[in-house]
Amino acid sequence: MSRRSGKFRRVLSRIFKERQIYHRSDGVVHFISMSSKTQIALAIVGGAAVLWVAYASVNVVFKEQIIVAKERDSRIMETTYSKRLHDAQRAYDDVSELNQIIKQNFDETMTDISARHQLLQTMVEHKAAVDQGLDALARGLAEAGGPSGQHPTNGNRVMVDVTPGEPTPRQSRLSATRKKAEKQIERDNAASPQQGVASDAIKSMNKAAADLYMEQMLLLAALEEKAMAERDYLATVLTSAGIPVESVVTPAKISNVMLAQGGPFIDLSAENEASFAFYHHANRTASAVDELAALQKALLNVPLSSPLIVGRRYTSGFGVRRDPINGKYARHNGIDFAAPWASPITATADGVVKFAGTRTGFGRVVEINHGNGFVTRYAHMNRISVKKGQKVKLHDKVGELGNSGRSTGPHVHYEILYNGKPLNPRRFIEAGRYVFES
Ligand SMILES: [Zn+2]
Repeated sequence: MSRRSGKFRRVLSRIFKERQIYHRSDGVVHFISMSSKTQIALAIVGGAAVLWVAYASVNVVFKEQIIVAKERDSRIMETTYSKRLHDAQRAYDDVSELNQIIKQNFDETMTDISARHQLLQTMVEHKAAVDQGLDALARGLAEAGGPSGQHPTNGNRVMVDVTPGEPTPRQSRLSATRKKAEKQIERDNAASPQQGVASDAIKSMNKAAADLYMEQMLLLAALEEKAMAERDYLATVLTSAGIPVESVVTPAKISNVMLAQGGPFIDLSAENEASFAFYHHANRTASAVDELAALQKALLNVPLSSPLIVGRRYTSGFGVRRDPINGKYARHNGIDFAAPWASPITATADGVVKFAGTRTGFGRVVEINHGNGFVTRYAHMNRISVKKGQKVKLHDKVGELGNSGRSTGPHVHYEILYNGKPLNPRRFIEAGRYVFES
């Protein structure tokens, strides 16, 4: 046993030393003896009772206040929570509003871009189809060669390519376009929200859209230059043959491509300078493509080939000459080619057989109507292989070379009549060479 607990025991036994409680009743004195242990037990019970009373009193007094405090805490928590919820909701609303703004801007921008893209695509496809037609014509004409059967020296390179290739528009026009695009960005940016995430997103989208716009303008410029160059070239082919271009092509104010597209005209009403510039330019380009298409179509019916594909000799020219039979000077309304007997004589362009039979002087003769005022005549045939009203294509056989009619030897007499007036076929065949030898 330690000294400390020994001391505690001595203190306890001093405080709770054995006591007697005396009391008198009816003259008799009684006493109750209380041991230390009994006193300690009583003291503990008493102390516990006092503590319990104290606790109960405090509890009763402060319970109300505790409840109030708890309620206040929970109210504060509730308020904080709902405030946070509200903040979150607002943040969400802000984000979805921004989202809406960005989406709307994006949709409008995409609509513009895709409308322009669609128009460009239509024009590129339209031009590609024209070029394919020209390629086919060039190959066909190359087959017959020049007036004396000369074949192209450049490996039958076709005159046109289908894709617009590298853009090479004029520098001045290019910088004007760039300025327009930049001004449009400024306007678009000014119209969009000025701050925050949406603003940045829309600004970078506007920048990307302006880059695309520039690309589209460049493509348009390249397409226009190509279409115009080809159109001018084909016009030269016609002019060199002596045919006025206006008789074949009527320039339109609004291109068929644009009319077919329809949509852009809605866009023109909007105050969008860049968009207007595009469609204005597009209309000009589409018109050039339209004219090119009209020329290409017209050229299919212009007799640009030679009536003989086989080896031949150019024996007599167009105009006044000494007549081989009577020796007098007379007008020769066509040109003559000599070739082996019964060589195939072929149509010099697409058309419909107008006459197939015998005519005085011409012997067995075929006449083909090509439309647009053009008629070709093939004379002195040995045999005719087509009937009146029959459709013929370029280089379809129409008969065999012979010596019928007023002729001094096997040859073909070939004429081109334009609105009934004879033109020099040699010029047409030379012009045909331009188509495949450019
Ligand atoms: Zn002749």
